[in-house]
Amino acid sequence: MQTNTEILHAIPSDPLTGAISVPIYQTATFVQSAPGVHQGYDYARTNNPTRRILESLLQKLEEGSGASAFSSGLAAIDAVLKLLKPGDEILAVQDIYGGAYRLFTQLYANWGIKVRFANGSDTDSLIRAISNNTRLIWVESPTNPTLKLYDIQAIASAARERKCLLCVDNTFATPLAQKPILLGADLVLHSATKYLSGHSDLIAGAVISASPELAEKIRFIQNASGAILGPFDSWLVIRGIETLALRVKQHAENALLIAQWLSKHPAVAQVNYPGLKNHPDYEIGLKQQKFFGGVLSFDLKDDRAEQAIAFIKELKLFKLAESLGGVKSLVCLPSEMTHKTIPVERRQEIGISQSLIRLSVGIEDAQDLIDDLDQAFEILNNKIHHIKINQYVSA
Ligand code: PLP
Repeated sequence: MQTNTEILHAIPSDPLTGAISVPIYQTATFVQSAPGVHQGYDYARTNNPTRRILESLLQKLEEGSGASAFSSGLAAIDAVLKLLKPGDEILAVQDIYGGAYRLFTQLYANWGIKVRFANGSDTDSLIRAISNNTRLIWVESPTNPTLKLYDIQAIASAARERKCLLCVDNTFATPLAQKPILLGADLVLHSATKYLSGHSDLIAGAVISASPELAEKIRFIQNASGAILGPFDSWLVIRGIETLALRVKQHAENALLIAQWLSKHPAVAQVNYPGLKNHPDYEIGLKQQKFFGGVLSFDLKDDRAEQAIAFIKELKLFKLAESLGGVKSLVCLPSEMTHKTIPVERRQEIGISQSLIRLSVGIEDAQDLIDDLDQAFEILNNKIHHIKINQYVSA
């Protein structure tokens, strides 16, 4: 069966009424016929039928043994970290989402959980960096916002050998492009705020586990800590997933065209998009991804932050906002927005310059998006030209 058909038909119609849309069980509790005797649901933090359907869909999409849906991507990351105990160490690739960096370094560090960062582009050096205390390896692939890819299969086999867990943040790729569990990961993480829901209208997260034991532990943590996804937002994510296959195809097609166009633009120094054949991780991408996603980033030749800000200001279709993966295109300046919590020296080390621009390419017509970028470059160019003429006249 084709993916789209499979996704749509994995969503059940309601056995009670035949409703083709999943019912939203907006309830806190469930009536029991005798103490402890119920129909599988006792309290909605522990379990809710709408959330349950979303979780089985996520489990199926990622080919895992169980899934839990959280109130945000960060709540999902937090649940994974609660698998650890004081003295344990996280080994993370160096360019991870700013919020994950903050959680690791500013919160969990206070609870005796150490984090070390390694250059995951060099798989061997990442593997060498595993210590006897490493319990969790944290990988984002593609990374936010530098779009690097890591060899998940190689890292997974080293993690297995050293008996540590591997969690892959699969937010950028989506389960339709990449299935980390099939590549050997123990846990998959999603900010479902992004492509899974797809319309920039909610905050949600998910953890999908490879084994039933891990799935049970995450479920226990979720119930004990309480950061569940509510029934309406669960319903919205289910609805988003119904069109995921169509959307990601369009996002990826548009992003490739834009990346190719930007690569040839005289004002652009570098384009980070793993679908470009000259991207250093293109081969890894071919090995582990079906397509290359809808996010890219680029640096201008004039690398002053003011230039990037002036460029962004002229864009009409790309809206200046954090987040990504929605149907409408967004632009952001990670150094001032999504990755501001990472110290500036560290940002520079990992390639997040002050002027790096990130685009979340939407599903508009690619030519309109290219025209939008083109007119912004044109205005910027004219401004520079005017400044030069004025300097010449006043000299
Ligand atoms: N993981 C990645 C790769 C992200 O980009 C984000 C948010 O931007 C998160 C996790 C956190 O997700 P949320 O904002 O849903 O808490």
